[in-house]
Amino acid sequence: MAEQKSGHPRGLYVLFATEMWERFNYYGMRAILVYFMTDALLFNKAFASNLYGGYTSLIYLTPLIGGFIADRYWGNRRSIILGGLVMALAEFILFFCSSLYKSNPDLSGFLFYAGLGMMIVGNGFFKPNISSMVGQLYAENDKRKDAAYTIFYMGINVGGMLGPFICGLVGNTGNPDDFKWAFLAAGIGMLLSVITLKFLQDKYVVDADNNPIGVTPKEMADSNSPIKNQLSVTVILGLIALVAVALGLLYLHGQKIFDLSWLMLISLAVILYVIFSDRSLTKVERDKTIAIFVVSFFVVFFWSAFEQAGASLSFFAAEQTNLHISSINYDVPPSWFQSLNSFFVVAFAPVFAWLWVKLGKRNAEPNSPLKMAIGLFLLGLGYVWIAMGVKDVGTNVKVSMIWLTGMYALHSWGELCLSPIGLSLVNKLAPLRFASLLMAVWFMANAAANVLAGKLSALYPPGPAEILKADKAGINLPAILSGQLTPSAQQLATLNEMEVPYQYTSFMGFQIHNLYDFFLLFVIMSGIASLILFLLTRWLSKMMHGVK
Ligand code: GLN
Repeated sequence: MAEQKSGHPRGLYVLFATEMWERFNYYGMRAILVYFMTDALLFNKAFASNLYGGYTSLIYLTPLIGGFIADRYWGNRRSIILGGLVMALAEFILFFCSSLYKSNPDLSGFLFYAGLGMMIVGNGFFKPNISSMVGQLYAENDKRKDAAYTIFYMGINVGGMLGPFICGLVGNTGNPDDFKWAFLAAGIGMLLSVITLKFLQDKYVVDADNNPIGVTPKEMADSNSPIKNQLSVTVILGLIALVAVALGLLYLHGQKIFDLSWLMLISLAVILYVIFSDRSLTKVERDKTIAIFVVSFFVVFFWSAFEQAGASLSFFAAEQTNLHISSINYDVPPSWFQSLNSFFVVAFAPVFAWLWVKLGKRNAEPNSPLKMAIGLFLLGLGYVWIAMGVKDVGTNVKVSMIWLTGMYALHSWGELCLSPIGLSLVNKLAPLRFASLLMAVWFMANAAANVLAGKLSALYPPGPAEILKADKAGINLPAILSGQLTPSAQQLATLNEMEVPYQYTSFMGFQIHNLYDFFLLFVIMSGIASLILFLLTRWLSKMMHGVK
């Protein structure tokens, strides 16, 4: 039965489970990705960070293509199943890549890029389509839609919590040979997602009138024609071409031949032109659209600091956090810290929902831009917290887990103030004929943020791993870094060959000597963004013409 008098249609739980297993795959793999790059493929941290940023950036860009193709030709269902299968295959390719990294490094390197390229393309077909199917389960004005998206968001986060936990348990053991088990587990999770949808969709994923949803407009019109699989040669060739483009872009970005930031800027310029050259845009629509662009600009600063989770904060978890729990004599896999964000989101979503209602009753609920400024503030506070934890702490000291844990709690509270709020704000503000395009702007902000996240993570100061590497070659890295020792040409050549940085990095003239400086960078960035957004809230309220 599609519609129930109370509660939600069963289809919601099918989509919940489908998305949960897909996020298990995505976040499980992401949790070990930089470790795999640095510990097995032996990439240096800066290179790994940049590649991580390129990968996650493209992950947020391809939904534009996947959404478009599904709307025009393919329908959501087919796109999700295909995207899911491509991601599962990607994980299995990464499984082979991680089994071969010692015996055949060349093939392993190729498989690595191929796997990432396939993840990017698969995600592009999966993610936008499953999200839009949730709303289609309900009649146009069904009040349960908002609650449905909240439940769905929980599915995302249950997957986001289990993925790093399980993949970390089997793959992040300290032995690089074990990474393969994480990719395998992620691939199995992805298959479970596809199987769940494939076998349950016909019965349950239907609209309020029991019609199948997520099919193409043609199939919808002709209810007698069975929903066919359309896996033709053209489709397969098209997919291969997309994967080739994705992995090519990723490679060029990693090698610093073509920076993905340019791709973002060009796409942004095109979208701005398409929208603002439309003469039929009324003054109010124009204002609302400007408001979308402004808030999207600010969320770039949020996600670029937030997405450090899979990059610099992962380095920090592995190298400078005391992972030992003495009471049970167990070393926690560092990737487990990446479960915390999702855990806190699930735990605190009801608290925030309650808070907004409570404040609303007193007429004191902040409007969306203000909530987003608060989100940025909480994110900055998270970095203040961790900066306190590493202040005056030497490179060889490991700090308590409380610092990362507290920081992730603050980040997750920030996410709850900014992410769902921003998404629904864009929905409310966008003129109908530009709804998808402006949603694309929101995704693009995420994509741009991830490129930046990679670049910022590349500034991570040389730590215990680099010192140890240099030490093995008989080089005193801390002395070189601090300027007490001038390295010989021979030493420099050795350091270069080992890809060990021997100078502190700097960002806009700000030199990063240690982790305190590094985390301070994020405090300053999110603090300034929060303050400016806060100051703009009044103007934004005007531009939003009554939308809260
Ligand atoms: N955690 C959420 C998801 O995976 C949102 C992430 C984001 O927008 N950066 O869907």
